[in-house]
Amino acid sequence: MHPSLSIDPGNPLVRGFFDTWKVPTLRTVTGWADDKRMLPSKGAAEPGKYRSARTPYMREPMDCMSVQSEVQQVCIMAGAQLGKSESLNNLVGYVIDEAPGPMLLVQPTVDNAKRYSKQRIGPMILETPSLAAKVVANKSREGGNTMLEKEFPGGILILGGANSAAGLRSMPIRFLLADEISNWPDDVDGEGDPLKLAEARTNTFGRKRKVMKTSTPGVKDICRIEREMLKTDWRRYFVPCPHCGHMHTLDWKNFIIPKGEDGKSLTEQAHMVCPDCGGVIEERHKTDMLNGGEWRATRPEKASRTRRGYQISGLYSPIGWKSWAEVALEWVEAQGDPKALQAFVNNVLAETWEEAFSVRLDAEGLAARAEAYDHFTAPAGVLVVTCGVDVQINRIEIQHVGWGVDEEAWVLGYTIVFGDPTNFDTWSQVWDAIRMPIKHASGVELRAVATAVDSGDGNTTNEVYAFTRQHRKEHVFAVKGMAGPKPVISAPSKQDINIRGQKIEKGAILYTVGVDSIKSTVYGRLKRTEKDGPGTVHFPLGMTTEYYKQLTAEKQVTTMLRGFPKRKWTKKDSDNNEALDTFNYSYAALHYWISRHNPRTFWKQMASRLEKLKTARVESKPAVSVPEPVAATPDPAQHAAPSAVPARRPESKLSGWKR
Ligand SMILES: [Zn+2]
Repeated sequence: MHPSLSIDPGNPLVRGFFDTWKVPTLRTVTGWADDKRMLPSKGAAEPGKYRSARTPYMREPMDCMSVQSEVQQVCIMAGAQLGKSESLNNLVGYVIDEAPGPMLLVQPTVDNAKRYSKQRIGPMILETPSLAAKVVANKSREGGNTMLEKEFPGGILILGGANSAAGLRSMPIRFLLADEISNWPDDVDGEGDPLKLAEARTNTFGRKRKVMKTSTPGVKDICRIEREMLKTDWRRYFVPCPHCGHMHTLDWKNFIIPKGEDGKSLTEQAHMVCPDCGGVIEERHKTDMLNGGEWRATRPEKASRTRRGYQISGLYSPIGWKSWAEVALEWVEAQGDPKALQAFVNNVLAETWEEAFSVRLDAEGLAARAEAYDHFTAPAGVLVVTCGVDVQINRIEIQHVGWGVDEEAWVLGYTIVFGDPTNFDTWSQVWDAIRMPIKHASGVELRAVATAVDSGDGNTTNEVYAFTRQHRKEHVFAVKGMAGPKPVISAPSKQDINIRGQKIEKGAILYTVGVDSIKSTVYGRLKRTEKDGPGTVHFPLGMTTEYYKQLTAEKQVTTMLRGFPKRKWTKKDSDNNEALDTFNYSYAALHYWISRHNPRTFWKQMASRLEKLKTARVESKPAVSVPEPVAATPDPAQHAAPSAVPARRPESKLSGWKR
């Protein structure tokens, strides 16, 4: 072959020839931003030229949105102060300047969108010369530039709120930027999911579409961004250890907040350790680590050419933004405040918040915590006793709970009265059980100050009203459980019409009880590992396996409601849950009692009341209308139920917990 016919790409002449014929390649989003983007002097932490090197982890997700990338769907679950918003702004600038087309940017609300336009988009356009030249100045409305609409040659930017369907229903869209999607409503104006509405706008563009969804996360199993992330390969940013080079993610479990000799947290000395060599990693190492980092898929089985997900926490925030010392301080200050802890987990760690009670409780674990005190005796911490009653078709179950300062609780005893709830005799046994004397450690005899009785499913409601009406003076009242976010106990209503529609004099009083709220509280407390203190629940030895099984019978599960996950308390149909119900009614009765006192000084009042009782020795006279139960202390060996049988009712049986 003649040498002149061969094409040698290494030949400088040949290379020059091919260069002139090369199709000019478009810049990537990062390339555009590094070249053209100016950060506004107002509002930006570091005004001046944008440098992607400052937040190297943002390069890959941004460049997925470049038109030459195959990726169509990008999901970013990120904490605060990581430069996520500036990346979004870069996309807007890139589209206007480099790849014009119709673009929709959606914020949770229209107000958010207006503010975003005014504080972020407007200043960026103004201070980035190439953008200012393309988007007509704000003043000339007729020039196609308003707060929520910005025209530019070859395209338009529309800003919308997820709370208004009108803004999401516009024209076909090639670039969709969905921001803070975890704060979007499930339904917009009755037209369904706003994210679906917005995404439907991109269908016309097929493979050319570019959709970016970003958010800080919210509650586990509920929040949108997690749902979207689960469809992706879930990339995380791996950085090299400055000591051994081991590639790892900056995880909270490797974050160390040293403690001083006085036990105080030394947040200024917060640092990380390498999970491989154990070397101390300091804030000053961060810049090199970020530069040496790379995104790696943690769910490779979900790998896709068109869809990617990125999760990054505030621990990666570049030097000069959020420091590890600030993170440590935020953590320390959030202790004991569930709301602040959730904000920390969501906004700093960029992780979903898992409510403590969403994990099923372990019955055996609770049983193992039982303490050595007799049934129907109250340890010294108990200041007041309440009772919860649940009515079943062939029996009535009663639980006594003692309460101490800040709702520390002691289960005192459990009684099951077998019998027909429509039979008066059954109820007089129930009354005996409720009035069971409780021997306090101080020697005083206590009785339940308030009793909440479930008004049942309708079959026995009349009997419950009759019973509670009869014992109203002793603070026995009917309750009805309500699901959803309700207070522990709501203002009562008078039920003065009986089932047959007849008017009843001095009608029964029915309180509404927020069962879901109580379950959340009680389950949160049952999960505590502290041996005592506010909220701790104590159990006496000898409660049956069935008791613990029932107490832990329910679980919060996530169910789909109209296409959206909702949290709901459920149990297996075969499982009984009376132990939980009666405990919860006891708790409602406590709150009833608190509401009849000054809540701020309630526990002081209860303590001084106990002191007075010590002097008087007897708490209250038994009601005249009923026989007094034998005040014998039950045999501790027969824990499960009071062995005391009403003296004048030898035929009645107070059955044990056995079935
Ligand atoms: Zn290392």
